[in-house]
Amino acid sequence: MSDAPTFGFDTLQIHAGARPDPATGARQTPIYQTTAYVFRDAEHAAALFNLQEVGYIYSRLTNPTVAVLQERIATLEGGVGAVCCSSGHAAQIMALFPLMGPGRNVVVSTRLYGGSITQFSQTIKRFGWSAKFVDFDDMDAVAAAVDDDTRAIFCESIANPGGYVTDLDAAASVADAAGIPLIVDNTSATPYLCRPIDHGATLVVHSMTKYLTGNGTVTGGVVVDSGTFDWSASDKFPSLSAPEPAYHGLKFHETFGALAFTFHGIAIGLRDLGMTLNPQAAHYTLMGIETLSLRMERHVQNAEKIAAWLETHPGVQAVTYAGLPSSPSHEKMTRICPKGAGGLFTVALKSGYEGCVKFVDALELFSHVANLGDTRSLVIHSASTTHRQLTEEQQVAAGAAPNVVRISIGIEDADDLIRDLDQALAAASV
Ligand SMILES: *Cc1c(COP(=O)(O)O)cnc(C)c1O
Repeated sequence: MSDAPTFGFDTLQIHAGARPDPATGARQTPIYQTTAYVFRDAEHAAALFNLQEVGYIYSRLTNPTVAVLQERIATLEGGVGAVCCSSGHAAQIMALFPLMGPGRNVVVSTRLYGGSITQFSQTIKRFGWSAKFVDFDDMDAVAAAVDDDTRAIFCESIANPGGYVTDLDAAASVADAAGIPLIVDNTSATPYLCRPIDHGATLVVHSMTKYLTGNGTVTGGVVVDSGTFDWSASDKFPSLSAPEPAYHGLKFHETFGALAFTFHGIAIGLRDLGMTLNPQAAHYTLMGIETLSLRMERHVQNAEKIAAWLETHPGVQAVTYAGLPSSPSHEKMTRICPKGAGGLFTVALKSGYEGCVKFVDALELFSHVANLGDTRSLVIHSASTTHRQLTEEQQVAAGAAPNVVRISIGIEDADDLIRDLDQALAAASV
């Protein structure tokens, strides 16, 4: 769709990247359930392997169903290309892989999904990488944490679980001044509520497992490239700017320009790390994205109503939802995600850790699960589950203190959800 930018979000979420199947005319994108693709002849095969011609070789690298999803998400995010991966966590590694190396570090927000905190504080050390955790309310501290070995800045647009909104424009200024990319995890906001590239992000990552698929059927992730970063401006990013031995000395940035990061993600990242999304999962995610804006509007409407109700409940100590005028994030929300603060927030109960345990056990319509961004409403006590590997100090910094439950508001009737919360709060206070 060469005229894609003239269409609105609701149109693009259905059409971007898709066209009737050239072989059959099928209107819905077929699931290309195939591992390999027949080469026209030996010369064609050689050109594909040399990256001289773009096409399909083997589904660890590229697959037509996955390619439609990549183009759709890149379009919705305002990027030039995207690489789908097997999970959100895979996408984070795939985003960092071309940038980092032994001894290099990434400056990250203290307010992240619990699994991301563990990935960054523990697991990436095995690669010789490290992360510096900083409070992104203090952009001077973020700037001060950047050193000669820093290769990226990483934060979430609306941070999970606390519903905290990051000042992306300010974070992008720090990254620009340092000559390094800003990577934004846009899982909780989705491109419908926030487009980080419009605020200066270089790369956007998602757990597609959440709102993009939207109904709890898929594990998937994606890295979107803005195409705006000059990888050759310094010698900091040799994977993209220097000759690549595995492709006869090809330089990705010189050869592919704005698409350098995307081509590297496929030709090196997926080829050698193998964190590939399967076509069936891509199909479910494409189906989900067709209704993304409709779902996000309802998630926001329900969350605003329920957060406002909870805030006045006598058993509740605090509600952190940037959509509430009382939230310290509210002003940032009006700039970064003006259509709403999403469907995710936390509630601190006066009845403490024990009250939280009784509360989640008493809920009937809400499911107690380690997931978010589903059509159905979900709840989790982070301190005893997703954030239990963290110290209490890390839990508090991440918005997951022992008396806090995380709520992911679905698209059911808000009044039914309120009735369920009401009876569970009564059970929590006895
Ligand atoms: C779930 C989640 C992840 C990890 O994604 P997976 O698909 O579970 O690997 C990363 N970031 C955020 C904000 C998430 O909610």
